Amino acid sequence: MTVGEASVRGAAILKAAGLEAAALDASLLLADILDTGKAGLILAGSEPLTEAVCRRFEQSLERRLAGECVAYILGRKEFWGLDFAVTADVLVPRPDTETLVEAALSRIDELTGDDPAGALPSPSPPVTLLDLCTGSGALAVALKHERPALWVCASDVSGKALALARKNAGKNLQSLAGTESPVLFIESDLFDRLGEAAMPAFSGPPRFDLIVSNPPYVPTAVLATLSPEVRREPPLALDGGEDGLDLIRRIAAGAPPFLSPGGTLLMEADPDQMTIIAAILECRGYSDIQMYRDLTGRPRVISGRYSE
Ligand code: GLN
Repeated sequence: MTVGEASVRGAAILKAAGLEAAALDASLLLADILDTGKAGLILAGSEPLTEAVCRRFEQSLERRLAGECVAYILGRKEFWGLDFAVTADVLVPRPDTETLVEAALSRIDELTGDDPAGALPSPSPPVTLLDLCTGSGALAVALKHERPALWVCASDVSGKALALARKNAGKNLQSLAGTESPVLFIESDLFDRLGEAAMPAFSGPPRFDLIVSNPPYVPTAVLATLSPEVRREPPLALDGGEDGLDLIRRIAAGAPPFLSPGGTLLMEADPDQMTIIAAILECRGYSDIQMYRDLTGRPRVISGRYSE
């Protein structure tokens, strides 16, 4: 069998099982085994497949048929053009969350006066950012990669997630690694232990210009109805309690003492939750509440500013 034939057969097997992105999934799985990239797979189309590759491809297809998503099978996922290691300890980064990266970047650029790379010598201290519930580190790493002058702290309640986030920072931010790690990682249930860590960016308690978060926001009862792929992701990263808003409420309530005056809180949530979150933010004293739409045109990110 040739590479091309194997790819077509794999796609047919996945399609017969009702998987929507059968052809894409099959080619991603085969390209990973052959280490060709997707374009390389097409170029290698007429080459024969070795027995060993064939067996590995079959194993990958079996895992996919059993409901594992491609990202977990490959152990990685692309987010914001960067390569993130993923395991079953973290949520797979979604394209939706790139909306949060964009929203945060535009806020950062407002603060730095459109000096995106931080290239101009500036006497002002760096813009500081906290990523709560960082998981694989997707938000913290993408933002630090995009704006190296940022001072970034990322926290998660899961030690296993943090270990992976550290690995992803090391892999994607290698060029920025000086004496100090490019992102400071802290194991903490939301804000609980943030005050304990030594943070050189602050002379007193930490106050961030931006707090970003993609917290768990799926209502508990909805979790069981999600696709088998999503149900293999850690409930800790998805389950937002009865109405999905437990963590969002705690973040909205806990953020003010950790925000610089006029600082911005940016959170991802479900489009259907936006109106109620806007009300929560307003009740908590946030102003300038804005929503940002994802690629499908639905509001996916909400922000508010806090001035005492
Ligand atoms: N967008 C995710 C989903 O697939 C939920 C992510 C989250 O809870 N942070 O449902």
